[in-house]
Amino acid sequence: MAKKLRQVAIYGKGGIGKSTTTQNLTAGLAELNKNIMVVGCDPKADSTRLLLGGLHQKTVLDTVRDNRQNVTLDHLVKTGFAGIRCVESGGPEPGVGCAGRGIITSIDMLENLGAYTEDLDYVFYDVLGDVVCGGFAMPIREGKAKEIYIVASGEMMSLYAANNISRGVAKYAAKGEVRLGGIICNSRNVDRELDLLRAFAKALGTHLVYYVPRDNIVQRAEINRKTVIEYRPNSGQAAEYRALAKAIEENDQYVIPTPISQDDLEQLLMDYGMMELADEFDI
Ligand code: ADP
Ligand code: MG
Repeated sequence: MAKKLRQVAIYGKGGIGKSTTTQNLTAGLAELNKNIMVVGCDPKADSTRLLLGGLHQKTVLDTVRDNRQNVTLDHLVKTGFAGIRCVESGGPEPGVGCAGRGIITSIDMLENLGAYTEDLDYVFYDVLGDVVCGGFAMPIREGKAKEIYIVASGEMMSLYAANNISRGVAKYAAKGEVRLGGIICNSRNVDRELDLLRAFAKALGTHLVYYVPRDNIVQRAEINRKTVIEYRPNSGQAAEYRALAKAIEENDQYVIPTPISQDDLEQLLMDYGMMELADEFDI
C-alpha cells in the first residue's frame, strides 16, 4: 500500500531560522527512518547546505538554463545526510523577476522526472517570504504543500511576518486543502518568549508545535557544514531537534488560521512587554 505522503511548507521571516530548523528537523525525521525530500525554494539556495556537507548544489533553474534538453533527476536531486534527497530551486537575482518561477520550474521538473516516488514520507519546501505573495505561495498554489508551519520568535517583526503569512494561508485554505499545522518558535531569548508565542499561536487559532532554544552549537555545526544532529548527536540541542521531529510526526492539529489585526498584535506584544516591565520595577 502506498504511504500517505505529507507535503510540508516552512514559512517565516528571512533570517528567522527556517533553513536551519528544516534541515535539523528533517535529519531528526530521517533518524526515525522516514524518507524525505527537501526542496529549497529560496533564491539564496542554502536550504540543503547542512544536509549536503556544504556541497554547493547547482539549482534547478541553473541546470535547466545550461542543459535544456537532457536534464535527469541525478542533475536535480543530491543525496544528503541519512539519505535525505536535496533540491535547490534557485531564482533570479534579488529584485529581478519573480522568485516563484524557480519554484514552479522545480516542481514541474521534479514531477515530470518522477521525483515524487511512492516511498517518500515527507516533502519539505523551505520557502522564503515575509508574506505569501504569488511567487512564494507556489508550493501551495500548485497543490503540493498541504501542511504549513511558520517559524517565528518573540521579536516583533517576526510576529508581524508570521501574522501576514497566516493571512495568506487562510486565503488559500478557504478554497483548498492547505492548513496551518502550527507555529515553531525558534528562540531569540526574548523575555517571556514562550508565553508570548503560545498566546500568539492561540490568537491565530493554532498551537505552538515546539519551542527550539537558541544555542551557539547551531553556529558551530553550521561552520562545520552540518546539522547539529550530525555534528553533535549527543548534545542537548540535537535532542531538541529530535523532539521537534517527533512533534511534527505526531501533530494532529490542522486549522484555517484566524490572522489578527495589527492593533491586536501590538496589544499582545504590549501585554507581554508591559508585564515584563512591571516585573523589572517590582510594580
Ligand atoms: P532563514 O532560512 O530563515 O533565512 P537560517 O536558517 O539561515 O534562516 O538562520 C539564520 C541564522 O540563524 C543562521 O546563521 C543560523 O545559524 C542561526 N540560527 C538558526 N536557528 C538557531 C538557533 N536555534 N540557535 C542559534 N542560532 C540559530
Ligand atoms: Mg533560508
